[in-house]
Amino acid sequence: MTVSATRTGAAAPRPRAGADLVGGVSGDLGTVCVGAAGFGVDVFGSAVVGAPAVAAPDTGAAAPSSVTLKKPLHPFDAMAAATMSAPVPRVTRQRVGLGAILPNIPHHTMTERLYYTDAYQTSFSATVQELSDDAQRVYLDRTAFYPTSGGQPHDLGTLGGVSVIDVIDEDARIAHLLSAPLARPVGTTVDGRIDAVRRFDLMQQHTGQHLLSALFADQYGSPTVSVHFGADYSTIDVQGTGLDSNALQDAETRANALVFSNRDVTVSFEDAATAAGLRKSSDRGGTLRVVTIAELDRSACGGTHVRRTGEIGSVLLRGAERTKGNTRIEFLAGYRAVSRARADAALLSTAARHFTAAPDDVPLLVERQQQRVLELEREHRRLSNELARYEARSQWDAATANADGLRRIRINLEQGAVRDIEPLAQSLIALGACVVLASTRAPAGVLFAAAEDSGIDAGQTLRAALAAVGGRGGGSPRVAQGSVPDMNSLATLATTLGFD
Ligand SMILES: [Zn+2]
Repeated sequence: MTVSATRTGAAAPRPRAGADLVGGVSGDLGTVCVGAAGFGVDVFGSAVVGAPAVAAPDTGAAAPSSVTLKKPLHPFDAMAAATMSAPVPRVTRQRVGLGAILPNIPHHTMTERLYYTDAYQTSFSATVQELSDDAQRVYLDRTAFYPTSGGQPHDLGTLGGVSVIDVIDEDARIAHLLSAPLARPVGTTVDGRIDAVRRFDLMQQHTGQHLLSALFADQYGSPTVSVHFGADYSTIDVQGTGLDSNALQDAETRANALVFSNRDVTVSFEDAATAAGLRKSSDRGGTLRVVTIAELDRSACGGTHVRRTGEIGSVLLRGAERTKGNTRIEFLAGYRAVSRARADAALLSTAARHFTAAPDDVPLLVERQQQRVLELEREHRRLSNELARYEARSQWDAATANADGLRRIRINLEQGAVRDIEPLAQSLIALGACVVLASTRAPAGVLFAAAEDSGIDAGQTLRAALAAVGGRGGGSPRVAQGSVPDMNSLATLATTLGFD
């Protein structure tokens, strides 16, 4: 895959030369206010740029004061525009995980975050500023490695040829954890390379999340409360439980329409006091890193994003479940959506091959086969019972009654479970004047059945006899089952029950 190292977007000015930026999004709590205009909650919250303060850009960065669609580009956009202007339920103050406000930190101890201004930069050179004793925890003057924060997983890649296994946001600095010691002393230059495929995948998921959060807040009155980016799929938790499968299908269509409209996604650095139209307003000072999807969303965020919605690629909503009064929506974007669709198609093709049918016919064929299996099971039960009745008659006739007038019929199964013999046992006791003892070797199980006219309670009798040999079991007055510790105790049990 090729990713360009250049950026576009006039509304994404770089910060002033020489201004080091720090910031990020970590897990403390902030308060957001969802206003009557329908602005929702962005879980990535404030990406507040710490000292020294960076002036708000003077390029007249687009800062729309509302999120209504002004120029429908597609029929779905027109549909979206019509409903976006509809009133959204007013939501009072909510508390969600938001970004940390950074303290004033001395200039020289900060790591310059290259991904703040160019998410497409996947190689860089930097100076080693500090190393741990084992030289596997590395601090640089600047880095393109994204640290785990705001729900977005860290980048992978190499530093000086050594694998980077974790990237940690320490507010002012970024720590790179390596799989082996870095063979570069402090003060020397080292080359970093980001795993571009992983980075771009996370950019697709993350920007897809911005788009979905905006969509669910504006179209369905369901602001986002939390997100999770997983290795296989991502989830977004939105307020409320009113989204049914029709709404999800509709949302998926709208999300893809917004992707295909290929809107600019731009980054700007704005003074928190004057930044307008943010999805989550901030009552804190400082410089915000604002990510804008043209005419859809403006959110303060420290993550990495694609530069146009078209690069998000297809958005798949795979399902939803209710959780704690919210709805958790599973989604995939971009290459992930394609590979998931490919995997789904492969599964369907495999199923279709088993039926020697077209994939489209699989659901109907599965349903038919389930019905057929039920019919066959019913027929199998009927035939088994019929066979058991014949066998029972034959064994009953062959047995002779003891002095007590009862036939004692002994059945040994070399393999199988005692419950398999139950139809035969039931048929035997239905003939009257008999008791049945069946046993299996592996596992060592017993079944004891007594005809109603025998005067014997099978459950009580077997339970007592089993207890005497260290086994366990019980059942109804007619049929009981249990297990014995070994074959010797089975012989004792048989004698106790009158079977010699
Ligand atoms: Zn973001």
